[in-house]
Amino acid sequence: MSVTANSVWNNCLAFIQDNIQPQAFKTWFEPIKPVKLSDNALSIQVPSKFFYEWLEEHYVKLLKVALTKELGENAKLVYVIKMENTYGNREPFTEQIPSSNRGSVNPQEMDVPIKSKNPELKNPFVIPGIRNIKIESQLNPNYNFDNFLEGDSNRLARSAGLAVANKPGGTSFNPLLIFGGVGLGKTHLAHAIGVEIKDKYPERTVLYISAEKFTQQYIESVKKNTRNDFIHFYQLIDVLIIDDVQFLSGKSGTQDVFFHIFNHLHQNGKQVILTSDKAPVDMQDIEQRLLSRFKWGLSAELQNPDYETRISILRNKLYRDGVEMPDDIVEYVAKHIKTNIRELEGAIISLIAQSSFNKKEVTLELAQQVVEKFVKNTKREVSIDYIQKVVSDYFEMDVATLQSKTRKRHIVQARQLAMFFAKKFTKASLASIGSQIGKRDHATVLHACKTVDNLAETDKQFRKYIEDLTKKFS
Ligand code: ADP
Ligand code: MG
Repeated sequence: MSVTANSVWNNCLAFIQDNIQPQAFKTWFEPIKPVKLSDNALSIQVPSKFFYEWLEEHYVKLLKVALTKELGENAKLVYVIKMENTYGNREPFTEQIPSSNRGSVNPQEMDVPIKSKNPELKNPFVIPGIRNIKIESQLNPNYNFDNFLEGDSNRLARSAGLAVANKPGGTSFNPLLIFGGVGLGKTHLAHAIGVEIKDKYPERTVLYISAEKFTQQYIESVKKNTRNDFIHFYQLIDVLIIDDVQFLSGKSGTQDVFFHIFNHLHQNGKQVILTSDKAPVDMQDIEQRLLSRFKWGLSAELQNPDYETRISILRNKLYRDGVEMPDDIVEYVAKHIKTNIRELEGAIISLIAQSSFNKKEVTLELAQQVVEKFVKNTKREVSIDYIQKVVSDYFEMDVATLQSKTRKRHIVQARQLAMFFAKKFTKASLASIGSQIGKRDHATVLHACKTVDNLAETDKQFRKYIEDLTKKFS
């Protein structure tokens, strides 16, 4: 029987497996691939430099013993660090590093100088150690599945979330991307998944973080020269939840680092959960390679809740607060606040407060006043129709002309401005803006927004248009 890299490594694995904890074996040895055997040097491929450092730090003795058993006293180990090709079309980046001799039985055996210094793990966030990783998960236990009421508007996202919570990293919903408008429950659902996982698998490391905080931490790490520690920290997480990823738009450094962390986690069967206020196709200034990763798993939308769901959310809230309220009031609130669950709750909380403050019954009149305040605040959003009307008037054309297929420059510019303002002042998706402004597709709208941005930088007259029009919408 011929000796191959595979057979040697498999024998090593059998020995190693007998000598360490199953979880450690799974984490640090299963991902390794034997790639080459020449003479008595075995090359193994590891997924990252961090991985290599960890092996050297914690398992070099064990590796040494295992390998010596297989290949004799002159055994050598070479690490091949293979990272995904991320910069254009260059060759995948590989780096070969011979195993260090630290901790080895016989130091002379290692005749190749060690390239890297003793890897010391300096991690500001955690105390390293395979089983004692202590990371506060930052989860809010008040956001759980029990109080995340189900309705048509959230059924898909909610059940995908439950599936992920039952088998983190083990479903095809990886990443799970939850998207939807403001106040529709993205943050709540994201926490609920994390809370459920923590409950079912207390030993897993779960971390919830907003994309904004993630970005701040990253910038901080660059300043302090601890970028690697930052990456290492995130690569240790079993379930990473990043809220509001749209915040990463335009931040290429953070996107880049997130891309690497994402790949590492995904490759190692770890679960990633993301939320965003837009579907991936509508995200702007997010690199294509990241967007394509987002689409690997499942994108599930949280839609506006229907009337029944709004009623049950309100009833549930009242029930939990131990407050009774007449049906007609609850129905009135549910009928008038339709697109934001946070406002729905806000209105009912405000009603409860007012009634206990003034020690009087909640009347329909009071409900009307409270609701009006909320509805007025949300009604500030201008409509796409209104935007088209204002832009057309400004350029002294009619809306039909603005929407027409003509390529006349001043008309094209007016249309692009209308798209730009629709993007800026409404929550509509690119696709929906396009379909309302002359039946264009989302790419056209995206192009329009970019063109307007460019012209605003370079063309003084054009900047004046934008300023004038902005005033009309604010
Ligand atoms: P988003 O992150 O999408 O802006 P949040 O998760 O902050 O929205 O939700 C806003 C409020 O609405 C929170 O108080 C949340 O508990 C509540 N909420 C959202 N969806 C539901 C639901 N399905 N059942 C109960 N409460 C909900
Ligand atoms: Mg949120």
